[in-house]
Amino acid sequence: MLKTTVLLWFTLCSIWAVGRGPGNDQKPPLKTVIVDAGHGGHDGGARGELSREAILALEISLRVRDLMKQEIPDLNVLMTREQDELPGNQSSINAALRWRADYANRSGGDLFISIHLNATAANQRYAKKQVGTKQQTYYVYSGKGKKRKKIAKTRTVPVYEKYKLPATVSGTQTYILARDWYNIKLKSVGNKSEIYDTGERDTLDQEMIQMDPVEARIRAQQYTKYFFQKSLTLASFVEEEFARSGRRSWGVLQRDWDGIWVLQATQMPSILVETGFIDNPEEEAYLASEAGQLEVARGIVNAVKRYKAMLENPEKTITAQGETPGQ
Ligand SMILES: [Zn+2]
Repeated sequence: MLKTTVLLWFTLCSIWAVGRGPGNDQKPPLKTVIVDAGHGGHDGGARGELSREAILALEISLRVRDLMKQEIPDLNVLMTREQDELPGNQSSINAALRWRADYANRSGGDLFISIHLNATAANQRYAKKQVGTKQQTYYVYSGKGKKRKKIAKTRTVPVYEKYKLPATVSGTQTYILARDWYNIKLKSVGNKSEIYDTGERDTLDQEMIQMDPVEARIRAQQYTKYFFQKSLTLASFVEEEFARSGRRSWGVLQRDWDGIWVLQATQMPSILVETGFIDNPEEEAYLASEAGQLEVARGIVNAVKRYKAMLENPEKTITAQGETPGQ
């Protein structure tokens, strides 16, 4: 009897534990989506020739929100910011990063999508070319002892000018948190990329990451257990949709060596979308245009539709554009 009671107790405990686990609630599997426009205010993010990341990320995020509300009306779409400012009236970038994740958590978000633009040193290459010649004075010495004389002479030398080479790196990347982020290793699920964002402050200072190692470890474990696969699935959908619209896709990536706070601290599946390279003038023009922004928003919303359909109907294979075969 005691054995049975103990067994029953353990069974009840595990049912309770499973029931308490994220994703096992009674509510619909995808109800609230948090759209996070990266940066804002004095944190302008990466720089283009004409624009800043904070502004374009906000414009794209607002289009994502509008399209998502229009096409998935039963979804609750929340924004971390709707103005060009750091969210939550925060003045420091680190505090704002914390605020973004806390807001998503306390709003009961089921999905977190952070929207950014990329930049890379590889797009900032210079070369020099000869633009003319000039006369240069130089000196020679002749004679010995007291008769030694310094003689000025001239020669013709080329004149060079430094110029910027066209940007060569373009395309989209979607980040998910690394499985073993806490161990800080370099690894990726998709293409191993040498192209990393140089204009970013998406990660916290090392001291801040170290500030609460227990909390960080628990969150990383929770992410691995409940959110990794879902985040990876959504990220793959996003990159597939971008590729379908003709963009160059770098695929799903992980940035293990420094973590990404908004992915690490959100208690829900989460992705960070780098929608293109702002320091590539061609991509900057595309991402600043209405057509470009709508196309990017369309890709993200299509991916969310597919993700939602998958959660609601896990047996069906969902193909691109959120349609089930035969529909
Ligand atoms: Zn960014």
